[in-house]
Amino acid sequence: MNVYDSELVSTMMHESGYKKTDDLNTADAIFLNTCSIREKAEETVYNRLDNFQHLKRKNPSLLIGVLGCMAQNLKDELLEHKPYVDIILGPDSYRNIPKIINDRSNKIDHFVDTKLSKFEIYDDLVPSRNKSVNSWVSIMRGCDKFCTFCIVPFTRGRERSRPIKSIINEVKDGVNNGFVEFTLLGQNVNSYNTPDGKFPVLLDKVAQIDGLKRLRFMSPHPQDVDDHMLEVMAKHHNICNQVHLPLQAGSDRILKRMNRTYTSSEFLALVDKIKNYMPDCSITTDIIVGFPGETEEEFCETLSIAKKVRFNFAYMFKYSSRPGTKASQYDDQIREDVKQKRLERLIDLQLKNTLLQNRSYIYKTIRVLVEKESKKSNSQWSGRTQGGIWVVFDKNNEKIGELVDIKIEDARGVTLFGSRVQREYKYEVA
Ligand code: SAH
Ligand code: SF4
Repeated sequence: MNVYDSELVSTMMHESGYKKTDDLNTADAIFLNTCSIREKAEETVYNRLDNFQHLKRKNPSLLIGVLGCMAQNLKDELLEHKPYVDIILGPDSYRNIPKIINDRSNKIDHFVDTKLSKFEIYDDLVPSRNKSVNSWVSIMRGCDKFCTFCIVPFTRGRERSRPIKSIINEVKDGVNNGFVEFTLLGQNVNSYNTPDGKFPVLLDKVAQIDGLKRLRFMSPHPQDVDDHMLEVMAKHHNICNQVHLPLQAGSDRILKRMNRTYTSSEFLALVDKIKNYMPDCSITTDIIVGFPGETEEEFCETLSIAKKVRFNFAYMFKYSSRPGTKASQYDDQIREDVKQKRLERLIDLQLKNTLLQNRSYIYKTIRVLVEKESKKSNSQWSGRTQGGIWVVFDKNNEKIGELVDIKIEDARGVTLFGSRVQREYKYEVA
């Protein structure tokens, strides 16, 4: 989402006469687009800002801006401790940028706007995308779910969805500009809801756009996964067979305390349902360990669900207390060393699961989208399967953005290795 938002900001800067630079030393303006989801993300931003202070000393007219969730969340702290920051804009306030740039000559001091809007969807702005295979398309903003650990409903505000028509136009435009894969984005992407239809209706329409090779979406909430969504996914070959289904925890008591709205058995039933529609669907997840009050037994319930589902991939986090959220007020916070140990045990299990799943593709031929040169060798490509697994293979005469068939020969870490075959692929899965 932040990549997408930065692309919007880039468009506005471009329209104000600015050009992008990769060299911080020559920049006239620097914006940090920030995240508040965990404390660590905020620390990273503070460290980066300290580096920028030196640049400001050298070039006093340098404009420094903090955008996004941290701006929303920590504006007073930023104003007090980082006085060299000129602009603080929350996620619904980016439209101020051209005006600020314009007024710059009038020597504005600080500019702060963190009002949240019920309506802002930046519908009329075309993001200036970096040339790549994938294009992000924001379809809804905000979140109304209020999980007790999460800062997003406070920093991103209420849920609102973009009209279907303008999303279709944006994707068509992207296809014409050479993008082959599109990822529909939203804090709860499948809560998408407009008078013209809900998420499955949109998904169905976008999948029919000529020239669109792959369609993904992030992040769905288990509560809003329904039969219609799965029917549409199963019907279109270009909608990737992957569902990111954040579990968060395996214990029903903890799930309730998190306000996650499902039990562990409902979650498992949903996984089965997805597999009924798409037997080869890859299921990935997010898990938090060490939520306040989580006992050893409750943590073991998380391990047990992870064992049962055998997620293809998981993002795993230590619970991070976010001031202002309900869970931050619980008085049974878990010690850092306990959280750390639990995280390590979960990662250990998940790495084994991922490898086990990946090994099942050995000797199979699967379809891969060529995305970039491999980091390790310029004679190899890296591409992803529908399920999002990275596959490395020797270059022949392929081009970036092409779908090719790769016979998988090895699985190491979280990566598959194979070679190009010319015959028709058998598995559009993985
Ligand atoms: N809307 C999505 C998730 C968006 S946030 C959903 O509800 O499924 C991305 C992930 O960050 C979450 O799934 C959660 O695992 C993690 N996360 C959010 N708040 C956190 C916190 N306070 N501490 C640790 N992890 C957190
Ligand atoms: Fe945060 Fe997702 Fe829960 Fe919304 S649904 S509060 S974004 S974790």
